[in-house]
Amino acid sequence: MFIIGAIFLVAGMFIARPYCRFFCPYGVILNWFSRFSKYHMQITPTTCIQCRLCENSCPFGAIDKPEKLNIKEDKTVLARKFLILALIIPALIFVGGYVGRQMNETLAKVNPKVQLAQEVFRYNKIAKENPENLPENVDVEGFKASGKTEKELFKEAADKIEEFKMGGMLVGGFMGLVFGLMLAGLSIYRYRTDYTPNKGECFSCGRCMDFCPITIKNEKE
Ligand code: SF4
Ligand code: SF4
Repeated sequence: MFIIGAIFLVAGMFIARPYCRFFCPYGVILNWFSRFSKYHMQITPTTCIQCRLCENSCPFGAIDKPEKLNIKEDKTVLARKFLILALIIPALIFVGGYVGRQMNETLAKVNPKVQLAQEVFRYNKIAKENPENLPENVDVEGFKASGKTEKELFKEAADKIEEFKMGGMLVGGFMGLVFGLMLAGLSIYRYRTDYTPNKGECFSCGRCMDFCPITIKNEKE
């Protein structure tokens, strides 16, 4: 947990809000749904004069640049892309789901019952191999005082680990889908004439508007 936290903190020095943008499931779902929204802010309230002053103003890289019309792809290339994506996305979901399922034991370690079962197991091992140096363990002592048997505890922990198979599979499959859709987004070509905030990625913070001479002029008038 500390290592992952440190990685995100360091990454945050170079990439704005990396966790929210790329890993938070809620952020990802909001991103998808925002793309279908009817209304979204524009950098300029009227005509974009292509001055490019806003080009690098967004800390989240959410400004879509104009795309030239003369690089339109032909239908065969588009069909091939579609076919490749239609194969790649399910494959990524499958691989993500499989890896997530296989990681169930690792993921289940966040569960208190599984943690306690591990503690009891370790404690019993030390008690068997090195009884003179048996450390004090309040968790194990608390468990022994509870009256529950070790068999019951291990059974509950095993059930939890089984449950994490489904959870890991869903999370892994979801991450595979997110990655696949990111790939699809990169390969789909869209035509644009103006600098516009990307509906899915823009947080509507309005920073880019401070760079736009048209917006500034409008505000002054
Ligand atoms: S409103 Fe903020 S997040 Fe959206 S494009 Fe402008 S600077 Fe980027
Ligand atoms: S600053 Fe305004 S006018 Fe200039 S490119 Fe950006 S949106 Fe267009």
